[in-house]
Amino acid sequence: MNTGLVDPFGRSVEYVRLSVTDRCDLRCFYCLPGDYRDFSEPDEWLTFPEIERVISAFASLGVRRVRITGGEPLVRKDLPLLARRLAAIPDLDDLSLSTNAVALARHAGALREAGIGRINVSLDSLNAVRFREITRGKLDKVLDGLMAAKRAGFAPIKINMVVMKGVNDDEIEDMVEFCIEHDFTLRLIETMPVGDTGRNASNHYLDLQTVRQRLAERFPLIPGVMPGGGPARYMQIAGTKLNIGFITPISQHFCETCNRVRLAVDGTLYLCLGQEHRFEFRPLLRAGISDAELVEAVRHAITLKPERHEFRERPQQVVRFMAKTGG
Ligand code: SAM
Repeated sequence: MNTGLVDPFGRSVEYVRLSVTDRCDLRCFYCLPGDYRDFSEPDEWLTFPEIERVISAFASLGVRRVRITGGEPLVRKDLPLLARRLAAIPDLDDLSLSTNAVALARHAGALREAGIGRINVSLDSLNAVRFREITRGKLDKVLDGLMAAKRAGFAPIKINMVVMKGVNDDEIEDMVEFCIEHDFTLRLIETMPVGDTGRNASNHYLDLQTVRQRLAERFPLIPGVMPGGGPARYMQIAGTKLNIGFITPISQHFCETCNRVRLAVDGTLYLCLGQEHRFEFRPLLRAGISDAELVEAVRHAITLKPERHEFRERPQQVVRFMAKTGG
């Protein structure tokens, strides 16, 4: 019987971030070290049938939403096949994807057809030189990917911009105009001290409350709403369709409403982005656990969810990189 998944702090867990790889074809300086080699090996990756089993167990307990992420999910071979399997899980009614869009132009149609409805694209700069400095990648490919996503019918398409003082904070207004022009949603994100890279980038941290005030001086902001149940607080620019989400894990954390857990590619379930609490599914799956036992394991895992992250109090806390946890 589905009695829902409720953690020790009374929060319903209804959302799984599913990382299908820890590898990435970009090297954003605040995320993955340029010379990073310590990726998981293929035999450690959950297979598509294993992923489907774990997600089905979550869905049987009330999880309704899954976001495929990574690393960069599009570097996992045959991703549309996995998406199709997940989309067919009964009761799962929201399947979405986070991507850097480098390879999206090639895959957008197949992913949409496979049942992915919504898509988030990371984009920190519209300036090709700067984009390369931040990510080591090519902006053109990302823009091509975004346009392909539009043509394929993804809606909404959200742009995730990590706002960094002295790196791209002078581009927020440009990004706003870009999103108005293309009918994208914009989400601004504070830099988090996740892994050494994230901590090194902390000197670029910018409190988004100040950004909101700055935008309010230039644009008529009114409270906005977006479907999706995420942590962003939205403002709309009056007279346009643009919603701007402010994701403020540092200046105003939202842990009391946290409804998610993260399943890494190696089968580790991370209960919090900013803590080490975890549960290992892979050994159980490979030891032949039954479906009923798997459901019980999921229930148990949720009892391990901590109350909140401590990015401010203990910024040294999380040593693993974002790409490992699944962003
Ligand atoms: N590759 C996919 C993408 O680019 O969206 C999914 C994974 S990526 C790790 C997910 C998100 O995490 C991206 O928007 C990225 O900018 C963000 N991210 C990575 N490290 C971060 C940090 N230290 N602080 C804030 N956001 C971070």
